[in-house]
Formats: sequence, structure tokens, C-alpha cells
Amino acid sequence: MSMSSAAVAEVGGPYAAALAQFDRAADQIGLEPNLRAVLRVPKRELTVNFPVEMDDGSIHVFTGYRVQHNLTRGPAKGGIRYYPSTDLDEVRALAMWMTWKCAVINLPYGGAKGGVTVDPRALSRHELENLTRRYATEIIPLMGPDSDVPAPDIGTNEQVMAWIMDTYSMHKGYSVPAVVTGKPVAIGGSEGRAQATAMGMLVATREVLRRLGRPLGGTVAVQGAGNVGRGVLELFSAAGFQITAISDHRGGLYNPRGLDAARLSAHLRDGGWVSACEGVGDPISNAELLQLDVDVLTPAAVEGQIHAGNAANVRAPLIVEGANGPITPEADAHLHDRGVTIVPDILANAGGVTVSYFEWVQDLQQFFWSSDQITRRLSRHMRTAVQSVWDLAEAQRVSLREAAYQIAIARVAEATRLRGIYP
Ligand code: GLU
Repeated sequence: MSMSSAAVAEVGGPYAAALAQFDRAADQIGLEPNLRAVLRVPKRELTVNFPVEMDDGSIHVFTGYRVQHNLTRGPAKGGIRYYPSTDLDEVRALAMWMTWKCAVINLPYGGAKGGVTVDPRALSRHELENLTRRYATEIIPLMGPDSDVPAPDIGTNEQVMAWIMDTYSMHKGYSVPAVVTGKPVAIGGSEGRAQATAMGMLVATREVLRRLGRPLGGTVAVQGAGNVGRGVLELFSAAGFQITAISDHRGGLYNPRGLDAARLSAHLRDGGWVSACEGVGDPISNAELLQLDVDVLTPAAVEGQIHAGNAANVRAPLIVEGANGPITPEADAHLHDRGVTIVPDILANAGGVTVSYFEWVQDLQQFFWSSDQITRRLSRHMRTAVQSVWDLAEAQRVSLREAAYQIAIARVAEATRLRGIYP
């Protein structure tokens, strides 16, 4: 049996970064060429162009994607992103990262991602609903509780998930809550899902600090003020960390004595930009935020924020990746050589998909858990994953990212070998 990789363009974007990470770990575990060829490429890619009627009566044609990278270990799982620069290359990378994320945390899922190239803040609520329902309809051939289960990502939220659930259910003729996660609790969502990513990051951060022999507290700079960044602000400050800086793409605020987390999070929940929250700190740019001398840096925005051009200026000794792919492979190697500890995205931010898994299980069983049960089970999943990644990194003398990839790739490879290649 001999195979070669399908022709998928390898440019310098997120997918090239994802492939570089994959290739390095595949080399380290000596992955056979056949499996490497299978796992390097997405299984399915759907591009859809679809019309949406805007409030002024005009028709706008949007482009969306759903990419399923791998389904060997279970249904495809991954969020849907509404973002102005989203393209197929980005969605491919995000889908592949979901495969490894689900594998490293040992969820019975494959990886997928969806996206629409749009700035959701520029749409009215009615336009957002129209766009969501039409996009959901276009990807129905892929979606389903046994085949592909979307969730929120940048630019989407509980309400968008509710519309997706309703659209799918209308086509079926009955309610199918398990087709999507991150829904409101009132229609089959899970307790704890909204803050699950930040909660998982908190557990991972404390586990790593403890193993490094450092105090379980200190100063934190957060890049990003969406679901993940705001969650970090709220949960890390409640846990005794001092959030000294936070930003969105317009810029951020800095206060060396710690930002007033309660005031800021109320402001963010009302939809305000970080920089518009008065009296909590001084203005700071995103570039400056990434260079702050803090104990923990959490990039929780988009890909490629720490790159060859600015990695040398990063001073935090511990980076916990809330975003997917925030550090390019070049910057990653530079930081690792300098002794910076990086908790990689596929481990650090896996709390979100872990509670998505809990939500899906609860929906399928129609039996719901308390928020205490969710928190306990999430902590257990995160602690187990950190333990295995840490131990392998120590044993192999590799970075936490390389160890996480080794574990994830080995799990997917094992499942592929066991199932065999059909026919
Ligand atoms: N979008 C989130 C992520 O990147 C969550 C995915 C999910 O819950 O399926 O991990």
C-alpha cells in the first residue's frame, strides 16, 4: 500500500503552521509514511456560497466553509467562526487542531471547523439570524449528532447555536438538541459551557505552575476579550491571579496594580470595547501587551499573534494558549529555546470542547448534570491530560506542544490502524 498526500496548498498561513507542528511530532514518534499521508489532509471540505437578504432589501452573497479533518475516533467536532478574514486555509488548520485537541483530552471525537467570512458586528440581529439559518441549511449534508457537531467559536455565541439547532430540527421535523453544543441551557445546553474554556485554562495553568514549583498566582496579561479572554479575566481573578492587562483588536488597558475585573467584565458583557472602560487602567497596544513582564501571558484572540518578528520581545515565562494557533512555529521554537514554558492550545483551551462533549452526552441521554458535576469532571479531564503531556515531555525532553501532539497523533494513528483502510 502506498499513498501520497493530496495536493493541498502549503502557504505560510495557519494550515502551514498546523502541518509543521504535525510533521515534527510525526517525525518524533516515527509515524509510518502511509498514516502520515492520511492524517496530513482533511477528509472533507465543503465551501458554500449563499445569498442572504439584508434589512435594506439587498441580497448579499456570503462564503462559508465546513471542514472535517478526521472522523476516525468519532463524530467530527468543532466550532463555527464568523470573522472577516476567515478563509479555507484557516478553517483547515482549525479543523486539524480540533482532531488533536479531542485526541489529547481523549474525547471520542474527530475534528472539524466551520466558518463564514463576515464581520458579525456589522450585521443586525435579523441579518445575523438569516445568515446563520441559511449557512446551517447549506451544511446540513455534513451536520448531525452522529456525524458532525458544531459549537461556538469567534464571532458566534449561544444564540447562534440556538438558531442552528432550530434550523436543523425544522428540517428533521423534531428537536435534535445534540446536533450542536454551546446552546442556551433552556434548550439543552450544559451548565458551565460558557466559561468552560477559561475554566480549563485555569486548571491547566495551576497544574503547570505547581509542577514548575512556582506560586499558584501572580500577574496575567490577556490578549483578547471575547468568550475566552473575558472568562480568563473573571475566573483567574476570582482564583487570586492579578489581571494587569487585557485587550481586544482595538487595543487594551493596563494597570500594574491589577485591573478591576468586576467592572471590566460587566462592561464587556454589555458589548463595550476594552479601551472604552473608563477609570480602570491606562491604554496599551496589543504589541505592548504581548511584551509585558507578567507571570502568565494568555493569547486568547486569533492565530499568529506571536511570530518571528516579536517573539524575542516576549518576557512572560509561561504562556497559556487560549486561542488556537496564536504562536507561529518559528516563534514557538525561539521561545522554547529561551526556556519559556508554553501550554499549547490543543491542551490549554480544551476545556471548551470537553464541556461540549458533556453537553452532547447529556442531550443524547436526556439527563442533565449539575454545575458542580460539570466542574469536577472538567477538572478531572484537564488534570489527566496535563499529567500525561507533562510526563511525556519530561521523559522525551520535548516541549509540552510536541508531547501533546505525540499523544494525540499516536491515538488517532492507533484508531486508524485498528480500523484499517476501507475497502
Ligand atoms: N471553538 C472551540 C474550540 O476551538 C470549541 C469547539 C467545540 O466545543 O466543539 O475548541
